[in-house]
Amino acid sequence: MTPGKKVSSFHPPHRILMGPGPSDIHPRVLSALGQPVIGHLDPAFVDMMEQLKDLLRYTFQTKNALTFPVSGPGSVGMETCFVNLVEPGDKVIVCRNGVFGGRMVENVERCGGIPVVVEDAWGEPVDPNKLEDALRSNPDAKVVAFVHAETSTGVQSDARKLVGLARQRGALTIVDAVTSLGGTPMRVDTWGIDAIYSGSQKCLSCTPGLSPVSFSERAVERVKARKKKGQSWFMDLNLVLEYWNAPGGKRAYHHTAPVNALYALHESLVLLRDEGIENAWARHRRHHLALKAGLEAMGLKFLVREDARLPQLNAALVPAGIDEAVVRRQLLEEFNLEIGAGLGPLAGKIWRFGLMGYSCKIENVMMCLSALGSVLADAGHTCTLGQGEAAAHDVYATLHAEVAAAHKK
Ligand SMILES: *Cc1c(COP(=O)(O)O)cnc(C)c1O
Repeated sequence: MTPGKKVSSFHPPHRILMGPGPSDIHPRVLSALGQPVIGHLDPAFVDMMEQLKDLLRYTFQTKNALTFPVSGPGSVGMETCFVNLVEPGDKVIVCRNGVFGGRMVENVERCGGIPVVVEDAWGEPVDPNKLEDALRSNPDAKVVAFVHAETSTGVQSDARKLVGLARQRGALTIVDAVTSLGGTPMRVDTWGIDAIYSGSQKCLSCTPGLSPVSFSERAVERVKARKKKGQSWFMDLNLVLEYWNAPGGKRAYHHTAPVNALYALHESLVLLRDEGIENAWARHRRHHLALKAGLEAMGLKFLVREDARLPQLNAALVPAGIDEAVVRRQLLEEFNLEIGAGLGPLAGKIWRFGLMGYSCKIENVMMCLSALGSVLADAGHTCTLGQGEAAAHDVYATLHAEVAAAHKK
């Protein structure tokens, strides 16, 4: 301890999280965390785990037996997929159009695989024609990997199409759904995805640190048929399974499960199940349309073309002459509102407005537009105060009228 410095309890400020994650957490999820810890082999805990796996199958829209939360953040879910499915010498096609595709390439290399990179510009979705060409010139590719929702740019790629192309050529697919799961349509079985990972802290609105994953039968066969053990003991699915998917419920100790975090994930998935997954997708779209109208009314432009935008991650270009970091700092200090900055080549050029999970609601949209309008006006940006909120209001009013008319029919 630093001499003379008194350390007391930590009390974080109350923020509204509208960045790239983590997102706000429902009070019911926070109170689930504070329940008493029990042993991770306790029969009561084991029952909760079985429910958790079912809730995850619903969220992923899959019947995959091997569906469970990895103990670790989204990056550990990513690594679990690569470490188990890529053997030294395997050719892996990685579609890269942002930060997280780059991380996938790094994973392939560390597993001793040979990455074949399909490049698209940051802000563009993955081009299916380029993947098709890569598959044609690399008929020996074992795996195709891509990011469904690129959080670094706010772009959504056509997962169904990309997976279809890979399957035609007999390649397995690894899909990053860290930001997509719960916020935008994802149908693991209908689309035929083999390995998928997500994160607890984005559209699932749980505490950071867990990564739901799901593997198809084909993927499980590939793992079982490995010539050599993978380099990771912790992530070896064959070992983890003896805890999560033990036959006859005879679970063996592998590592101590993050018990309370799993209570929280269970509660966040109960909330999602009660809302209905399709209603959650529709909610993200509705608030995205309102936020978009508001941002555009203030003169902001989107980075991504309209048909490839993610509802849960809105990347807007910083207007000329505005210091983006000053705006973010003022939003945080005066309004307790967190939004995201740009990464890599987009640093200083965009803001990222997240509308994820519990953060995705009308009061956040309206407060964000109001706060941003006020901060932008201070910064010298020409916009009329209240313009953003008025535009968002019109979108909500139109959507409500449409719903009411549909009910009358
Ligand atoms: C956040 C994110 C990750 C990494 O998740 P962590 O929980 O930060 O490890 C991976 N991929 C995408 C698309 C993400 O948005």
